[in-house]
Amino acid sequence: MKSHKYIFVVGGVMSGVGKGITTSSLGLILQGKGYKVNLVKADPYLNVDAGTMNPTEHGEVFVLNSGLETDQDMGNYERFLNRDLSNEDYMTSGMVYKYVIDKERSLGFRGKCIDADNVRDEIIHRFINAGKVNKSEISIIEIGGTVGDYQNIMFMEAARVLKVKNPSDVAFVMVSYLPIPKTIGEMKSKPTQNAVRQLNSYGIHPDFIIARAEVALDSKRKEKIAMACSIPIGNVISAPDIGSVYDVPQNFENDRIGEMVLKSLSLKSKKNSPGINDWKKFVTRAKSQKGEVNIAIVGKYFNTGDFVLSDVYVSVIDAVKFSCYALGLKPKLTWLVAQEFENDKAKLKELNKYDGVIVPGGFGESGIVGKLNVINYLRVNKIPFFGICYGMQLLVIEYARDVLKLKDANTHEINPNATDLVVDIMPEQKKKLKDGKYGGTMRLGAYPCLIKKGTIAERSYSLEAKNLKLIHERHRHRYEVNPEYVQRLSDAGLVFSGTSPDGSLMEIAELPKKIHPFFLGVQFHPEFLARPLSPHPLFTAFVEASQKTSREA
Ligand code: GLN
Repeated sequence: MKSHKYIFVVGGVMSGVGKGITTSSLGLILQGKGYKVNLVKADPYLNVDAGTMNPTEHGEVFVLNSGLETDQDMGNYERFLNRDLSNEDYMTSGMVYKYVIDKERSLGFRGKCIDADNVRDEIIHRFINAGKVNKSEISIIEIGGTVGDYQNIMFMEAARVLKVKNPSDVAFVMVSYLPIPKTIGEMKSKPTQNAVRQLNSYGIHPDFIIARAEVALDSKRKEKIAMACSIPIGNVISAPDIGSVYDVPQNFENDRIGEMVLKSLSLKSKKNSPGINDWKKFVTRAKSQKGEVNIAIVGKYFNTGDFVLSDVYVSVIDAVKFSCYALGLKPKLTWLVAQEFENDKAKLKELNKYDGVIVPGGFGESGIVGKLNVINYLRVNKIPFFGICYGMQLLVIEYARDVLKLKDANTHEINPNATDLVVDIMPEQKKKLKDGKYGGTMRLGAYPCLIKKGTIAERSYSLEAKNLKLIHERHRHRYEVNPEYVQRLSDAGLVFSGTSPDGSLMEIAELPKKIHPFFLGVQFHPEFLARPLSPHPLFTAFVEASQKTSREA
């Protein structure tokens, strides 16, 4: 039997330079060369999953079908590979430690002395197991953090041991950064050289260096790195900044990185392999738009210190882009800070500038008043609105307050004592919170949803043509539309076009097309299923409606 191959992707110098995109792109390319590939993210955090991490600090929490709350890199993996990932494809240090400690507490090690080696071995087991579960031939494993961090040392050690045990089946790719300090005006390779030395001190040597920088590396810099780091000059790959992460696979292909990596593992492209033509078509389409559409996203997690961070909504942003590209449109995205719409009624008029507005998911009280004002304005002025998760709950609250005249309508999350809890907590959730069980206890992952005939939802998903009634979408929320108010809201014109199959949970709320061009909210997170090669139908319907209203204006 052919041996399984492993490619470890590690980061040098600093974080945020594209390890995740490198991993995803390599995956796509090797898949195109006919190999069954799986991608794994090893996250150094002690959090047992990403669900409890602060969004402004960590970015988006990406939810898998299973309900596992993971890092946003997993979203990139799914988007590049164009397939769903599973629990085996993700681990945090916390997850591994918890497993080892729980096993020890239940005498799973039969009284042996447990130390760091057991943690390392558990990591190796997970690396190997992910490949097995995926029935893949090549595992590409991204180790979070940067070379030199003490936090990711266990993952590095596990990778080293895997290499020692299977020398010809393991390759290391280091994604590094070469700064060009303004005062010096020259590209500096020293930090990369030091990062390689640091990696060497772990007993690991990189086979490839992906040299990220503002501009392409010149041959002098390549020679310097090759010489100082003892790697063939051809294995120092220049990866300058580019406009879109979706261009990276093609650039890698142009540089024949896939072939080189395969060669280092004694493999070559398989005969009749599919290549990445579909991907190339997507990239070409993304660059050849005929019109523009102005979409605003109203959020509250944008500001960190002096910087604006849109990472929290990365899947939402991507979902809008994919649908725009599919429709031949250029997305013009604007971030609006919810709090700014709280008291200033005149500011609401600014919303007329946009063809469509999204209120994405969120938690807690801040920004809510602003979001409710925005939703009201969009409804009354017939500007396309797409509410996601909290966005749908707020749609329902706004409708209850303004149309049903339930002035104290609210969600339990904000005011548990409100007179009309049109969005409430489910009994089983109540118990979890009472016991302080916050982590991994929301309604998480994929659930079926029954779609009502003759609605925007049905048309968007093209269900009639497919003779289907059910869709599956991923969730991440604790609160639900209160069933006790559904009849009254429906009588007042709000259509619940998607429900759980037993009819008890409201999944989609919309206003009929004759009342409003697009006013729709979903309790789930459709953005998690939007892919470059298969844009999400609801985002596409929203963008289409936005484009139309813009043309009519
Ligand atoms: N805060 C809301 C809830 O927990 C919505 C969550 C979300 O938008 N992801 O139900």
